[in-house]
Amino acid sequence: MCGIIGITGVRPVAQRLLKGLESLEYRGYDSAGIALYTPDGLQRLRASGKLEQLRQAYIQHPFEGTCGMGHTRWATHGSACESNAHPHGNARVMGVHNGIVENFLPLKRTLLAQGVVFESETDTEVMVHLVDQALQASPPGAPEDLPGILFPLFKSLEGSFACAFLFETLPHVIVCYRQGTSPLVVGYGQEETFFGSDALSLAGLSTELTYLNNGDLAILTPGGALFWNALEQPIDPIHTPNPIASAHVTKEGYPHFMAKEIHQQPLVLEGLLAHALPSFAP
Ligand code: GLU
Repeated sequence: MCGIIGITGVRPVAQRLLKGLESLEYRGYDSAGIALYTPDGLQRLRASGKLEQLRQAYIQHPFEGTCGMGHTRWATHGSACESNAHPHGNARVMGVHNGIVENFLPLKRTLLAQGVVFESETDTEVMVHLVDQALQASPPGAPEDLPGILFPLFKSLEGSFACAFLFETLPHVIVCYRQGTSPLVVGYGQEETFFGSDALSLAGLSTELTYLNNGDLAILTPGGALFWNALEQPIDPIHTPNPIASAHVTKEGYPHFMAKEIHQQPLVLEGLLAHALPSFAP
């Protein structure tokens, strides 16, 4: 189980994406990467191993933008190496993907027969090439054109997954799609919109969340998000409070999370007792 996170807004996102990936570490991963829409176009950086490797790589090769996404990978198709790490893509489109495309092989064979060159062993890259082809065949004039272009393609993919894409021609637009059981959530900020694999990844970024259902597609811009359901109809999002406060995911001054846990045991016990015994007064 890997994790994905993204931000589109008006402030730099690189450091916050790297930080956000930390909150997805608990899900397990073998490599990580980020992609940003920059003044020089779409750029990405990937590293195998721990997030620290990615952080060090970013120090060596920094780039910045106000729209981007990050990924922690748990390899299912192809070894755990940098070339298989996400994001996958090219100068026109970048994608991150959590889950599996079951029918990737026949699709890959068709693409190979068309002369498409693959640089990874992943099922994800198949999806990204298909998105790239779809947009080249029908260039979107506006973000609202994307569902009509992408729904047929997404529906031709079998499996359970959550994915997100950046496009060279649509700066500040992120498309997210959920199929099956892979969770995906959208969050809202001040001139910023977020997506993540779970509420925890958006703790500290968004106090309100919209959970995508099976087959939902969302288009994120700095001003908010538009949603379509599996029937390809526009839907009004349901906003729910983010149950995870940012304090839960910070060390709050302690040197590490275990120290925080140990020192906060009395507080936690007090809270539990007060909940179970309303007459309890510490
Ligand atoms: N199936 C994709 C891969 O092998 C994504 C795996 C994941 O969920 O991290 O790259």
